Amino acid sequence: MSDAPREHCGIVGIRCRDEGIVSYLYWSLLTLNHRGHESYGVAVFNPYGHVSIEKGLGLISDLGLEELHAWERELRGRLGIGHVRYATSGQLSSKADLFADAQPVADEYLGKNLCIAFNGNVTNLLEVTEELAGGANRRSDAHALLRLLLEEYVKRDDVAGALRLIFEELGGAFALVGLTESGELFAFKDPHGIRPLSYGFSDDVGLVGVASESPALAVNGIGLSEELRPGELVIISDDGSVERKIVRSECECFCAFEYAYFARPDSRFRGCYVYEVRRELGRKLAQRYHEIARNIDVIVPVPQTAEDAAYGFHLETGKPVEPVIVRHRYLKHRAFITPAEQRKLILLHKYNLLLDRVRGKRVALIDDSIVRGDTLSHIIHVLRGAGAREVHVFSTFPKISNPCFYGIDMATFQELIGFNRDEEDVARLLGADSVNYQRIEDFCDAVGASNLCFACVTGGYPTPYAQKLAEEGRKLAFEGGRAEGRLFEVIGGGRCRA
Ligand code: SF4
Repeated sequence: MSDAPREHCGIVGIRCRDEGIVSYLYWSLLTLNHRGHESYGVAVFNPYGHVSIEKGLGLISDLGLEELHAWERELRGRLGIGHVRYATSGQLSSKADLFADAQPVADEYLGKNLCIAFNGNVTNLLEVTEELAGGANRRSDAHALLRLLLEEYVKRDDVAGALRLIFEELGGAFALVGLTESGELFAFKDPHGIRPLSYGFSDDVGLVGVASESPALAVNGIGLSEELRPGELVIISDDGSVERKIVRSECECFCAFEYAYFARPDSRFRGCYVYEVRRELGRKLAQRYHEIARNIDVIVPVPQTAEDAAYGFHLETGKPVEPVIVRHRYLKHRAFITPAEQRKLILLHKYNLLLDRVRGKRVALIDDSIVRGDTLSHIIHVLRGAGAREVHVFSTFPKISNPCFYGIDMATFQELIGFNRDEEDVARLLGADSVNYQRIEDFCDAVGASNLCFACVTGGYPTPYAQKLAEEGRKLAFEGGRAEGRLFEVIGGGRCRA
């Protein structure tokens, strides 16, 4: 869906036996490229005790072979980290800004150096950065987080102690990887475990590492991996030894949206494959809304994340699935930040529909989620124009009516079609006969767990600062005010205290 929130970021950290770490990082980042299209980068700890960084703009698949080989020659080492980015914080106005914010980022303070790559959002960024020493780089939350960590690291020369301390002050969601100048790769998952981070090793291929999603490890031969526990720190030394410990943990709240939309279908989170969960989500929708489901003629998935759910819907109802909507793969424009007229044009060109498959039929249109609704209303309009008799929308994710402050780019109330509207209102706006959202209890059944974050659905945030931010944002939205940017960057200058 073009109006769906963009993927946030993907991170990886690997230790190999030889000194050719760059090629492992490259393959992992390629596998994570769906999580960030704007920039990519790698950092390598070399045998002389230095960390070297290379970055680029766009997709990592755009990196030419010659440039990759140059990186492989110049960045020799056994420890490295990598990052693909979609900005959910920082400045977005120019290529120079995007390049300056590309990660990994490195900093030096009182003779010590650290380098990190980060996925998530610091919600009380302005508040915590007020306390940073003069001259600190505050241009994005990654820079500020790095500086905060570095200042504590300088005081105690211990990553675990520095992390424990700064996470007492920070609000938000974080998964990060980093390199110290003494040859340690560290990886940390936030105390609520909101953002994903997998750990795995393989003696056969001589690798140990962490990554946002398990396929980024599997691509390098680490077939078995497990999700880090909330607040867990992993330290991998240059000699290959590994230390794992809980630094600070709270009740687990893993992002439910990873299952519905963000993650690759072949990713494994907490013991199950995402495609299995999605198939189950489709079944659950067909069961919950069986009165509507049994009367439809054809199931149409919105490509591509809804395809597994459409198959589950088919298994439950026996109705045929038709790949009616064909998406142009190479259209790279970001429809949701372009002016309205251009945006319409992009939507028009982004999808082609095989219209004769729906003429006179009652359609079950399956989508992973409904965020802003632009694409969906366009598709419904075209389906109706092609003679579809009825169009019933089924969303595998429950109704999103609150912003996310945890690294997903849907950070205001007003942009959400589900804000302050019930199902009938949303159906009317979309031009659908009905809109049928997944129930939270059915979603948890499909995942086989209930310790999930549904803050964008319920408005109940696992961290107090985000809760406060949401309450202020909701008040502003009901008063007719409009946040000119992401709520955590504009409301109260980030000064409201948890
Ligand atoms: S608010 Fe929604 S999108 Fe954000 S972390 Fe929670 S479930 Fe995921």
